[in-house]
Amino acid sequence: MITPGRVEIAGAGLAGLTVAATLAQRGWSVRVHERGPELREIGAGIVLWGNALRSLAHIGAYDAVVAEAERVDNAQLMDHRHRVIQRDWLQSGEMFIAVRRQLHRAIADAALKSGVEVVTNSLVTGANPDGTLYLADGSSVSADLVIGADGVNSVVRNSLDLGLQVRNLRDGCGRHLIPRTADDPVNGTFEEWHGGRRFGLLPASPELTYIFLCCPESDVEGIQQQPFNRETWLRDYPQYRSQLERIPDVPEGRWAPFYDVTTSGWHKGRAAIIGDAAHAMSPNLGQAAAVAMTNGVALGQALSRWDVPTALDRWEESERPIAKRVQRYSRIYGRMGTGWPQPLLDARSALVWSLAASKTVQRRINFANEYEPSLAG
Ligand SMILES: Cc1cc2nc3c(=O)[nH]c(=O)nc-3n(C[C@H](O)[C@H](O)[C@H](O)COP(=O)(O)OP(=O)(O)OC[C@H]3O[C@@H](n4cnc5c(N)ncnc54)[C@H](O)[C@@H]3O)c2cc1C
Repeated sequence: MITPGRVEIAGAGLAGLTVAATLAQRGWSVRVHERGPELREIGAGIVLWGNALRSLAHIGAYDAVVAEAERVDNAQLMDHRHRVIQRDWLQSGEMFIAVRRQLHRAIADAALKSGVEVVTNSLVTGANPDGTLYLADGSSVSADLVIGADGVNSVVRNSLDLGLQVRNLRDGCGRHLIPRTADDPVNGTFEEWHGGRRFGLLPASPELTYIFLCCPESDVEGIQQQPFNRETWLRDYPQYRSQLERIPDVPEGRWAPFYDVTTSGWHKGRAAIIGDAAHAMSPNLGQAAAVAMTNGVALGQALSRWDVPTALDRWEESERPIAKRVQRYSRIYGRMGTGWPQPLLDARSALVWSLAASKTVQRRINFANEYEPSLAG
């Protein structure tokens, strides 16, 4: 029988709060250090595949999230000629689109209800493998386990010397929430590729629709979100005038560059990293947060079964290859979408169409959706 211990976590994002809730519910004493003055997320939507939804169910946040989210039954990918080239992404199971702030709030509520202590304005400056977290005020805290859930530029990862590379993929997107109208899809999503640009339209709540506008960093007009360069997007996507006109001239959403984080490992001694700190990836498959939340659940399972060093070994051995695989497929998807040679766009459509026809390829791309951690024994 493993006796639950004490854990100190850096970062109250989706990853930090999910692992916090999981561990608190398994009897751990949990404290989360958040550098910001309050718990908050950005104003955008988020895709929740099956693995994300199962993680939410695991921590008791599923009902609160889906009550405000949009269920998706069909997702169409269209090409530069407005032809549907893929509509089978959703092989099985449930999928929802949520508003990030609502998702974050629901996970935070689950964590707080489970007894997690959250300290805001608490900046972490590093960690030690002996289970110490260092704080900016010069103090330190010790625990049986410390976790860095402090995002792409993780100081915990860097102080443990676990980082290999934070690679800028020279690709990114603007993302916006707009008031929802009858022009927007219901229970369905659209993604349309035009040259090196990708336009996504996803209802995210009864009141809000989520738009993403992806393009390579070199597309200087396309990346201009503040103020929003409406004309350049209307030129390529006149059929989405209604939605593009609902994006404010100076929107809240900023340009988000995509990064791949690679590491030499996910733990050292009694210190571990999770979420974007461990495996930030391009969001093209809508899986980065889902994988992070699933890893949180898996870590909870492992720590209920083994002592801390063994649990961290088994957890990393089991979950890290999954994250690496999703990261790779997501990067390939992004390259096809925004990095494909312009004269060969019809060849791209034919390729996507033929890949889509293969159930084996579909299963490979979608495997994380179906994945459930099984470290509980
Ligand atoms: C454009 C875009 C679209 C996306 N869409 C999807 C999607 O549809 N589905 C999906 O699953 N994923 C998606 N993702 C990925 C997802 O947003 C991230 O994987 C996820 O938010 C990462 O959560 P995190 O908690 O690891 O990191 P973060 O969200 O970065 O949270 C880190 C937290 O730690 C705090 N922090 C940082 N440093 C310190 C410190 N030193 N001390 C204390 N606190 C600190 C920060 O303030 C923050 O609260 C998308 C990403 C992007 C960029």
